[in-house]
Amino acid sequence: MTALNPVLDRLDKNLDQSLDRLFDLLKIKSISTDPAFSADCRKAAEWLVADLKSIGFDASVRDTPGHPMVVAHHDGPAGAPHVLFYGHYDVQPVDPLNLWHDDPFAPALKEIEPGRKVITGRGSSDDKGQLMTFVEACRAWKAEHGSLPCRITILFEGEEESGSPSLKPFLDANAKELKADFALVCDTGMWDRETPAISTALRGLVGEEVVIKAADRDLHSGEFGGAAANPIRILARILADIHDENSHVTIPGFYDGVEETPSQVLKSWEALGETAETFLGPIGLSVPSGEKGRSVLELVWARPTAEFNGINGGYTGKGFKTVIAAEASAKVSFRLVHKQDPNKIRAAFRKFVEDRLPADCSVEFHPHGGSPAIQLSYDSPFLTKAKNALSDEWPKPAVMIAMGGSIPIVGDFQNFLGMESLLVGYGLSDDRIHSPNEKYDLSSFHKGQRSWARILDALTR
Ligand SMILES: [Zn+2]
Repeated sequence: MTALNPVLDRLDKNLDQSLDRLFDLLKIKSISTDPAFSADCRKAAEWLVADLKSIGFDASVRDTPGHPMVVAHHDGPAGAPHVLFYGHYDVQPVDPLNLWHDDPFAPALKEIEPGRKVITGRGSSDDKGQLMTFVEACRAWKAEHGSLPCRITILFEGEEESGSPSLKPFLDANAKELKADFALVCDTGMWDRETPAISTALRGLVGEEVVIKAADRDLHSGEFGGAAANPIRILARILADIHDENSHVTIPGFYDGVEETPSQVLKSWEALGETAETFLGPIGLSVPSGEKGRSVLELVWARPTAEFNGINGGYTGKGFKTVIAAEASAKVSFRLVHKQDPNKIRAAFRKFVEDRLPADCSVEFHPHGGSPAIQLSYDSPFLTKAKNALSDEWPKPAVMIAMGGSIPIVGDFQNFLGMESLLVGYGLSDDRIHSPNEKYDLSSFHKGQRSWARILDALTR
């Protein structure tokens, strides 16, 4: 008899009660970006504290200059890992309200196709439904065994949907209290309805604006053309130089710190069946524009990029003007992977431009943020345990996926608490988070609870 099975049975038996609790939380209009709902945000935090206390957590509402945090602690057996669980109780605004089929704050269970039930309402998926999967797993474990299998700290934020202004100062001020062996972040999705996913990599970002100047004023192209330097021409040539004919970035040192993805990981991505056709077809494209010989998933998950996001110079209004502009500018961004250093990338880009600058021209650079990539080590024992636990619960084995974009919380945990994060969530791509008619599949909510029980159990072994 394992410790796990009775917990799973209890979760099955108590699904209705767990739904009632989620509905209570979903009814609270905790829209963080609109000051009119400040009291509701506090109410959601207080609701969570009361619920966590009822399980036996030492929980409290913690004030910040914005909406409060919820912090809760529960001890665990000696030798078991200490995990920090993160979720957010705030939600996105609901407008346009007329596009909702149901009241966004009157959650309900709805059958959308035979055998498929969903929980409707704002926050059902992002992120109240998700965070409650973990709380329910803890509740069932505690009720069954009188204890929890791991030492657990919980952090619920109330400003995730409005830029998390209080998060960094809070992590900094409470680093000692919040530091754990690693974090579990539940704000992401499955690969598909049958395949659970752990996100193991997030690309970093460097933003840079480059301005090239030549003459001290705009010039008539008949009078000066041929003799005067043209900043648009110079900028275009330099930008074109950044990629070779194979879409490889030519900036010296750009690939320092980039590692090849292990072949078994590449194979598992291949098995997901995403092709150039399925990935690019829906946006009206067909041929991957990145480095040759790499799959679309590898290109967006595991390779760095240099992209031009905007370019400006000269006369761009209606009609025509024969002008040689005094300056031209471009906004350039780099998505980073693995151990690429944002500062070195920025410096290498600037040198690349300066090295190509002709006589009489000058250049200015304006930095626009920089953050390194996050890459979980593929051989982390926590990752393997969580992956196996998820594979036991769902019809198909868990896959380790990556994200082309960024989730700031993961970098913040790394920087302020020196902690890696496992991103596990049960959202689906049709959950319509941030949009009207948000929903969360009942199977996500139910099997999500069971998945956390399995993961907690696996982490102790
Ligand atoms: Zn979220």
